[in-house]
Amino acid sequence: MYLSRLSLTNYRNFLSLELKLPPGLVFIVGDNAQGKSNLLEAAYLLAIAKSYRTNVERELIHWSAQKPAATLGGQPAQQTIIHGEVEQQGGRLRIIVGLRVVSEAGAGGALGEKQIRVNGVATTAAGLVGRVNTVLFAATDIELVHGPPAHRRRFLDILISQVDRAYLRTLQRYQRVVMQRNHLLRLIRDGRSSPDDLDFWDSELVKEGTALVARRSQIVQQLAPLATRAYTGLAPEEEMSMEYQPSVAAEALAGALPSQRAAEIKAGMTLPGPHRDELGLTINGVLADTYASRGQARTVALALRLAEAALLRQERREEPILLLDDVLSELDPARRRHVLEEAAGYQQALITSAEPAALRDMPVKPAATFTLQKGQVELRSPV
Ligand code: ATP
Ligand code: MG
Repeated sequence: MYLSRLSLTNYRNFLSLELKLPPGLVFIVGDNAQGKSNLLEAAYLLAIAKSYRTNVERELIHWSAQKPAATLGGQPAQQTIIHGEVEQQGGRLRIIVGLRVVSEAGAGGALGEKQIRVNGVATTAAGLVGRVNTVLFAATDIELVHGPPAHRRRFLDILISQVDRAYLRTLQRYQRVVMQRNHLLRLIRDGRSSPDDLDFWDSELVKEGTALVARRSQIVQQLAPLATRAYTGLAPEEEMSMEYQPSVAAEALAGALPSQRAAEIKAGMTLPGPHRDELGLTINGVLADTYASRGQARTVALALRLAEAALLRQERREEPILLLDDVLSELDPARRRHVLEEAAGYQQALITSAEPAALRDMPVKPAATFTLQKGQVELRSPV
């Protein structure tokens, strides 16, 4: 699949943008702070109905359109519109996400309204997820290596949710069980509830937790060889490996709970379970989170994203759209060339850079190059 049109109204620093996009490699170059990341954020928003950079949706609305209708003297507030057209095997998908500030809500922030339409039919965020597959490569991906285990669990959870919608529901149920169970553990600690009340929540935890661990183990088995291959392509002298490390094995979770009960009540929190699992990453056998250099960590992160894209291509009938936000600048020329060659193997990849030189003299040629300046875009090389 590929994004053939992106039009933005009152979105971030774009008052109005109309972009026709070809399949293939699309380069988007521009100085710092011109809107490159904003543009890719908009493209990613068409896939998951949310920003990957902020939970505060008001930030996505152009500053001039952030006032609620009442403050504009009763005039309806101008709406932020992200409109995308995606060409896929089954035909064209027209996706529209609209945002508007409805009222100022004091200390809690402004109240907003979000509308999503796919081919003219109103839907929810959950109804949109899974229609368009994208893989986003961001500069912050280095956190996948150096950040806490929660980052790596999230990487797995998002990936699995894209190939298996039932997984997202299991994950949400598991998170609710942990929350309720933690609350109960604290009540028991304070003498306001009996330990017997835990039995029901224990069995729920085991049921949902076992399913999560099993699915994550399975996906890591598929993903590990893809990541190892991607890493070797980038750094032929080194070997990267990945291993899923559950805090408790799926089959041992039920058995682990009774022995931990006293400790859990004391801590007021659920101790064993997939919310404490780790995705172990190593380079030449040593732990990447502890020892990787910056360049190595960046390379591991790229290998994870390339593996994610390869897995989505394998598991879904449609190829994902790749969005590479400023990930080439820190790479040496050989790695940069490899990433571009890999990206060229997909139906479409949007690649931003503040350094046009990083994209020059490469073996792959773009289908189009756009320059961005202050939220205005210009086509430099024709399609
Ligand atoms: P860099 O090369 O530094 O990564 P960039 O081209 O990716 O730069 P963006 O992150 O896209 O830059 O941001 C461009 C500009 O958009 C920023 O200067 C920011 O102040 C502005 N901006 C962000 N949100 C809004 C908004 N809601 N309204 C107007 N402008 C905004
Ligand atoms: Mg940027």
